[in-house]
Amino acid sequence: MPLTQVLPDVQEFLARPHGLYIAGQWVAPNAEGRLPVFNPATGAVIATTADASPHDVDNAVKAAKTSFDGGVWRLMPPAQRERILLRLADLVERDAEILAQLETLEQGKSITLSRIIESGGAQAWIRYVAGLSTKIVGQSLDVSIPLPPGARYTTYTCKEPVGVVAGIIPWNFPLAIGVWKVLPALAAGCSVIAKPSEITPLTMLKLAELATEAGVPDGVFNVVTGRGNGAGEALVRHPDVAKVSFTGSTPVGKSIARQCATRLARVSLELGGKNPAIVLADADVGQVVSGLTLAGFLNQGQVCAACSRVYVEAPLFDRVAQGLQDVVTTMSLGPGMDAGAQINPLVSAAQQKKVQSYLDTATTMGADMVMGRDVPDGGGFYVRPALVLNPDDAVPLAREEVFGPVMTLTRVASAEEALTRANDTPFGLAASLWTTSLQAAMAFPPRMQAGTIWVNSHVMIDPNMPFGGMKESGMGRDFGTAWLDGFTETKSICIRY
Ligand code: NAD
Repeated sequence: MPLTQVLPDVQEFLARPHGLYIAGQWVAPNAEGRLPVFNPATGAVIATTADASPHDVDNAVKAAKTSFDGGVWRLMPPAQRERILLRLADLVERDAEILAQLETLEQGKSITLSRIIESGGAQAWIRYVAGLSTKIVGQSLDVSIPLPPGARYTTYTCKEPVGVVAGIIPWNFPLAIGVWKVLPALAAGCSVIAKPSEITPLTMLKLAELATEAGVPDGVFNVVTGRGNGAGEALVRHPDVAKVSFTGSTPVGKSIARQCATRLARVSLELGGKNPAIVLADADVGQVVSGLTLAGFLNQGQVCAACSRVYVEAPLFDRVAQGLQDVVTTMSLGPGMDAGAQINPLVSAAQQKKVQSYLDTATTMGADMVMGRDVPDGGGFYVRPALVLNPDDAVPLAREEVFGPVMTLTRVASAEEALTRANDTPFGLAASLWTTSLQAAMAFPPRMQAGTIWVNSHVMIDPNMPFGGMKESGMGRDFGTAWLDGFTETKSICIRY
């Protein structure tokens, strides 16, 4: 298919000398360093952004704290906050194609996916969370305090915004996950500093500009760009950051949790996964193959909940393997701006190298691999998709998070073996079960160790469905009606009369 034409507004945005977004305006960074933003389809530099210094981060935190302490947002009537956030969703809808193109150009994913999940998903999640602004409730409590004799008490709780929140964002869904990190904090009345990934910073900068246009007061939504071990660490260590809301890799999540523990800053962590699918002998093979294709290869497998391990009961193994093999060997590879390409480049040269090295190691260890089509000529961070059949657990890609278009398929003798092997991982983000048996659909999910279990589906999310990890996949849940709890403190008020 012909490449999607880059809009003039997108070209104009890319050409800007991006600064930091602090207190409602573009601010030149104190630091001189610039970070390149690459187009993964070509390897060309398409923009540069600031590599914020600790001094820059301090300026952003000061702006956020000033706005928080001044009460310009947290004390605003909730219905007014809700209206402003709904207006932000409308502006994202107005600029949806600009945001989608920016996302494909900086991240590499298909423009179709950018339209549906990045700019489309951003609108849906902003609207959902905007509505929560007006649903913050406390409780009135009956108490039995005995002293002094004869005294009576009325007690109640209220929820207050936690303070200044740092939202730290990964590169796989920069706009959608950016919304998940920033918007619940805003809905709760917090002031925020967003730190997008240094690889994919552009859409968060655009979102901050839209937030000001929507009426979010200056200083309430700030963006600092920069490296994780620079701007990211400075944010996490800053004494005026009350809460860190992080999505990213497990090792970085652990180090952030350690930092937060030193000053008991609040922290929520959405981390990595090595997500299994269990296919029982009574499953619908067509549904399994199409469902797992999406679950394993969407966004080139760069999805935290992606299905990367499939355990199939023996009677169905050959048919599922043949179906997935047919898919993997025929998927077309091309740039994200080609809406017809089924596999697009990975996000960066480093990610390409990492995934390729997992595949090379597996080949060296003699793994049985089915490889997809050759990568296109002309540069770009492509990796051929791969299906690995019955790998030994010693092969690293069988147990570690690869975050690429790689799926393992393993024959098991029984449903119990599948369950044991599926749970045998330090991760616990998501899992799926494929079956036509109501009995199995009811009995298995409670025994599967993951924060989300899909039956006859995988990787489908909704703002009303809590999402997050067990074990080393994280702490806390995003989405759902309790989403704002992580951005509020409960205060008890006890009145004697
Ligand atoms: P990453 O951990 O390398 O980086 C994430 C963010 O943290 C980036 O903004 C980075 O600059 C910043 N960062 C890095 N080091 C830091 C430090 N020491 N202090 C503060 N900030 C720091 O992750 P990534 O490579 O961008 O994203 C891929 C990972 O994210 C995968 O492991 C994936 O599973 C995970 N992920 C999880 C979810 C989920 O909801 N559970 C969703 C998407 C991605």
